[in-house]
Parts: sequence; structure tokens; C-alpha cells
Amino acid sequence: MFQYIIDEIFYEVKKLDLKGKQAEYIPELAKVSPEKFAVSLFDLSGNTYEAGDTNDKFSLQSIAKVFAFTMAYRIKGKEIFRRVGVEPSGNPFNSLMQLEQENGFPRNPLINAGALAVCDVLIDELKHPERQLLEFIRLIAQNQHITFNNSVYLSEKETGYRNRALINLMKSFGTIHNSTEKVLDLYYKLCSVEMNTGELAKTFSLYANEGNIYGTNKQILTKSQTKRTNAIMQTCGFYDEAGEFTFRVGLPGKSGVGGGIAAVHPGKYAVAVWSPLLNRKGNSVKGMKILELLTTKLGWSIF
Ligand code: GLN
Repeated sequence: MFQYIIDEIFYEVKKLDLKGKQAEYIPELAKVSPEKFAVSLFDLSGNTYEAGDTNDKFSLQSIAKVFAFTMAYRIKGKEIFRRVGVEPSGNPFNSLMQLEQENGFPRNPLINAGALAVCDVLIDELKHPERQLLEFIRLIAQNQHITFNNSVYLSEKETGYRNRALINLMKSFGTIHNSTEKVLDLYYKLCSVEMNTGELAKTFSLYANEGNIYGTNKQILTKSQTKRTNAIMQTCGFYDEAGEFTFRVGLPGKSGVGGGIAAVHPGKYAVAVWSPLLNRKGNSVKGMKILELLTTKLGWSIF
């Protein structure tokens, strides 16, 4: 049944010829072919169903914020919420305004300010933050080949003026402990991690599987922590479009400016889509459409 629906919605969205733009503010992302389009669904019986450019890897960008948060939540438990909140921001992912008004305390871990604060926590807690974060992502992906994309990392490092501003603003309020350079570096490495849609769907199955890595006995988050992580994705995963995504798709998920979106139906499946064409809010246009069709055609709902 899944393969039939995946093929059907893939061709339906392809035919629509939806418009959008690559993330031009990161020069390396602007070079990715606008035609790329892929979808993979991983169910909790261990099967993958997919269509399109599923062999191509893309940089996860903000999707990877979920992995950094997961690692920090696992280490710090509920203490992590002393460093980031759980409220949707209703603002663009890289907005400075709210952060200034709220004394440098980021609203949630999925906007840039929150993910930068999470990276700061990881630097405090880990001996080799970069290596250990990558090892953690490889562990939950069950894949030793996952790695950073160096040119995307360098490209963003060169042009990431807003992220530098966000950290410096937080530093002025005392809400970041480590140097701007150290935090930025870990954050850009995180954003540059690459996967294809099949790898991403499998990695996200953690959040559909009560915090357990599929096919292992490794519990990464408790059942309650997983529920809460999904709640944060549901309310904050798409920034000022979180309402729209919930309204149209109805699943917890996370987008990235690389054009990827990953989402889960707890207890059932994880799905990843990729098309680099973004709307004005930085979310993949085809990605949102295909997920809307998926949940409509399946007729299952978490609500
Ligand atoms: N690396 C990107 C940035 O910091 C991530 C943004 C995103 O994917 N929404 O701007």
C-alpha cells in the first residue's frame, strides 16, 4: 500500500510544477539543482518505500537541530529547559527581535538562537564536541558513513552574519558560555551533515519508535522525552509556518533550508522528503505538498 501511495503522490506533485527558490544566502546551497525531488518512508516493520532522487545526499541544515537537541536532552534531562524554552516563536528562524525582547533566552531549540544555545551546552558537556556529536548522529542513523559536507560548512561559515549576531546578542545577556567562534563552528558543522531521504527517514524513526533506535535495544530518549521532543517539533519545527504545517500535514516534523523535511507518525512511520525549492518561510514547497497528500491519502491522524 505504501509504495503505491508514494508513487502516486510523487508524480502528482511533480506534475504541479510548484515554484520556489533555493536558499541563496548560503552560496553552496544555491548551486543545488532545483529539479531534485525525493521521498522516502520508513515504517516500523523496517521497510523503506521511496521515489525520486533517493541516492542524492543533501545538507540537513535545521533538521539536524533535532539531533543536537536530542543529544543535549539525553545528557541534561529537564535541566536543558533552563537554557531553551518550549514555546513556538511565530517568527523567522533567524530572527533577532524576540531574542532581544526576551533577554537572550531562546524560545525553543529549533530556531537558530535555540540551536546555538544547545551547541553551547554540548561544548560545555563534551570533551570532543564535534566528534562526539557526529558519532551520536551516526549511532541514531545506524550508519557509520554519515558525515559533514565541508563545502557547505565553509560556505555558511563565510556568510553567516545573522548567526554571529544571534550569538553575540546572547553573549551580551550572558546566556552563552563559550566563544562565538567555537559555538558557530559546531553549529555550522551540525547544519552541514548530509543524508539522503532514505537515511533521514530511518534516522527519524527514533521519534516514531518511542525513543528506541529501530532494530536495536538502544533507548536514546525515554518515552516521555520522545513525546516532548515530538511536541516541540509539532509546535516549533516550521517556525512561523508551524501552524500551517500542522493544519495541512498534521505530523510532528522539522524542515531545513537544504530543502529537506522529516516528519513522524508516532507508532507508525517516519518520512523524509527533499526538494531545494523553498517558500518565503524557508520550508520546501514540494515537501510540504507531498506530505499533505501523504497524510490525506493515508487517512491516519494523530489528532
Ligand atoms: N544553517 C542554516 C542557518 O543557520 C539553517 C537554517 C534552516 O535550515 N532553517 O541559517
